[in-house]
Amino acid sequence: MKEILVLAEHRQGQWRDITFEMLSKARQLAESFGSEVHAVVLGKGVANSTEALRPMAHRVLLVEDERLEAFNSETYQTVLAQLITERKPLLTLIGHSTLGMDLAPNLAVQLKMPLATDCIGVDGKDGSFVLTRQIYGGKINSTVLFNKPGPYLVTLRAGAFPVLQKDSLQGDIISLPSPLTDGNLAKRFLGYVEAALGDVDITQADILVSVGRGIKGPENLPLVKEFAEAIGGTLSCSRPVVDKKWLPKSCQVGTSGKTVKPKVYIAVGISGAFQHIAGMKGAETVIAINRDPKAPIFGVAHYGIVGDLFKIIPVLKEKAKELRQK
Ligand SMILES: Cc1cc2nc3c(=O)[nH]c(=O)nc-3n(C[C@H](O)[C@H](O)[C@H](O)COP(=O)(O)OP(=O)(O)OC[C@H]3O[C@@H](n4cnc5c(N)ncnc54)[C@H](O)[C@@H]3O)c2cc1C
Repeated sequence: MKEILVLAEHRQGQWRDITFEMLSKARQLAESFGSEVHAVVLGKGVANSTEALRPMAHRVLLVEDERLEAFNSETYQTVLAQLITERKPLLTLIGHSTLGMDLAPNLAVQLKMPLATDCIGVDGKDGSFVLTRQIYGGKINSTVLFNKPGPYLVTLRAGAFPVLQKDSLQGDIISLPSPLTDGNLAKRFLGYVEAALGDVDITQADILVSVGRGIKGPENLPLVKEFAEAIGGTLSCSRPVVDKKWLPKSCQVGTSGKTVKPKVYIAVGISGAFQHIAGMKGAETVIAINRDPKAPIFGVAHYGIVGDLFKIIPVLKEKAKELRQK
């Protein structure tokens, strides 16, 4: 039975969401191909953390080595190249994260594997994979088929795939020997640089209040920030707000920012350009506040308020505070 390998992404044993998104997708694919999902964990001292992956994988393949303690695309590439060469999986999934962007192209070249990057859809049809990728900055979705035999390598966009909540595979953890030797590495891990104080990971937020050019100037940001705080939300924004340096790049939603899928996304003074919508259309509930009833954001909003944000936000903020006090 051919397997689907998923490179579990973690930072010192802390799983990234993309890991569970990939495992969920792999599980669906495995059903249609009659194959199994095998999570690949590379690291050092991460055996205990792998428990969290067992419900979602038929097996967890664990390679531990001190040289894998921190991500280095060269060491990861060596281990994965050996695994793929030996096991000939149907498909290998890697997150389209900074890790995946560094690793996947080199690996594909080394093994001469067909590679599709930054996919927002992967399905099985007539025994082949049908992939969806965005082109022209997210304006058009293209369907991609591999025209060579596998094994295939695919990187998935973070936030583009839902996580299956219930699964009970309880796959065994299989420890595999590390193929690494003390060869010279061109790259060396120096240390993690944490995000600047105040930077938040908007991809993890359940409630996002996103502000656009309609806010007019940075002096008005506290209004929306206070509203976000009153409802337990996090502030994010559209690109012009970043371009004008009113908020940091880490807050930007969209094709050249982050893909988010909160439970609630409140777009305040955002028109809804396709580059923005591509980054937030996975939100469970979208609420738009815009004074232009024809703004495209209303096309993806579940609820809309047409009006002046400077009148609406203070009212909503007070209401939220009242409700909290009850
Ligand atoms: C290659 C490329 C990549 C891009 N990547 C991204 C990206 O990642 N993310 C992104 O967001 N954009 C991105 N853009 C830019 C995108 O095309 C739009 O220009 C941008 O999203 C518009 O931002 P906005 O909605 O905040 O501003 P605008 O389009 O100017 O919209 C402002 C909105 O505020 C409303 N408004 C104004 N005043 C008020 C008020 N008082 N009350 C209520 N509503 C009001 C207006 O009606 C309007 O709809 C990209 C563009 C390119 C070319």
